[in-house]
Amino acid sequence: MKIFNTLTGKKDILTPIADKKINLFVCGPTVYDLPHIGHAKTYIVFDAFAKYLKQIGFAVFYLQNITDIDDKIIAKAKEKGITPKKLASEFEKEYLEDMKLIKVDGVDKYAKATDHIKEIISQIERLLDKGYAYKTDDGVYYDIVKFKNYGRLSNRTALRAQDAVSRIDDTKTKKNKGDFCLWKISKPEEPEWESPFSKGRPGWHIEDTAIAEKYFGLQYDIHGGARDLIFPHHEAEIAQMEAISGKRPMAKYWMHTGFLTIETRKMSKSYGNFITIRDFLQKYSPEVLRFLVLKALWRSPIDYSEKSAEEARAGLEKIMEFVNKLAEIKIRKIGGDEAGQKILEKNKTDFWKFLDDDFNTPKAISAMFKLIKEINKLNDKNPICKERAFEIISFFHEADKILGILGKEKKSPPPPTLKKMLADREKFRKGKNWQSADDIRKKIEELGWKIEDTDKGAVLTKN
Ligand SMILES: [Zn+2]
Repeated sequence: MKIFNTLTGKKDILTPIADKKINLFVCGPTVYDLPHIGHAKTYIVFDAFAKYLKQIGFAVFYLQNITDIDDKIIAKAKEKGITPKKLASEFEKEYLEDMKLIKVDGVDKYAKATDHIKEIISQIERLLDKGYAYKTDDGVYYDIVKFKNYGRLSNRTALRAQDAVSRIDDTKTKKNKGDFCLWKISKPEEPEWESPFSKGRPGWHIEDTAIAEKYFGLQYDIHGGARDLIFPHHEAEIAQMEAISGKRPMAKYWMHTGFLTIETRKMSKSYGNFITIRDFLQKYSPEVLRFLVLKALWRSPIDYSEKSAEEARAGLEKIMEFVNKLAEIKIRKIGGDEAGQKILEKNKTDFWKFLDDDFNTPKAISAMFKLIKEINKLNDKNPICKERAFEIISFFHEADKILGILGKEKKSPPPPTLKKMLADREKFRKGKNWQSADDIRKKIEELGWKIEDTDKGAVLTKN
């Protein structure tokens, strides 16, 4: 297959380093808050991608780190009056729970930074030995000028690479403005670990390379993450690992997912447009979220709006309706039906062909819709047989091992007329007109819906 590689700036043929084995590392979350739908975009993409690689015969080892020590974690723990360890472990649990909810279960190993302090220290020691790192009065830093290829992934030069330093990298005593922190001497009451340099805690970039080295060795196949991690995070990872190993490249393929914006704006708590995965799942199913994400090319941006979620839901319903209808076909035909066969073969071939070319899920999904359209048209005049229907359903299930969009239950939103009736009932209840409110409730129930009075108001669920 071919995949777009940030490192080369083009689509490259995916050739694993060793035979059929693919080692895939994806940057995981910093666990200090609930994950939002922007995180979901990246993790759904790589979940589906890893499942695809497995399905076409690669032996994939999908590794993800969990950043459980970091400035943001320390700050939030202080705010809440609990230890950083407790806060991180709570949000790690929430993260894993949310991933399970959205059917992200393709990760083979989650590795926490604090479980790999020994490996982190070993990498820093080697960087110090080789002269790529130096000690200051507040920790150990990486000297970006020493690494000739710094900036190659992001097309920046070391001199220009001074803009994106985070708080942990901030110190007056470092050599170059863009130098980043490998080890930080902890302030009083901050978490700290013993090390040959000083008691302290690791920087952010070093945890990924230490974890990757432990499970993969010094070079591996694919590194993935969100686009905003290219600089400085991934640049720093390359500088660390390639300086240690003396080998290039650290990862053969670099895959970066596109951003998710909310009505063209960046998602941010200060804009009030922050949507956690849980917020989303209050209104829509996990399948809608996966479908919404996979309808776009993995490296393209998504602009989210209520409308796009509704469109995704409607599209999914169309697929489910089709599958359910096929399951009811009872016609038997001797010799089978050629027209149905042809439609299936063509679109099935296209489906796999599109995934093979840069994991193009939107095109693959469009092949599924083309099949739906053509089979529906055929069914109107010359219905397909039970066997063919079964083959089509099997194909959809095979596709769904990657996409994870077919829900089990048929869920549809309440129609507008019911919403209106519910609003009327609320009005009657406010006016203490219990009889009329109750009459409406009965009518709604006759239509197959149930009213549940929650603390957020009355909601309709299907019986
Ligand atoms: Zn990372």
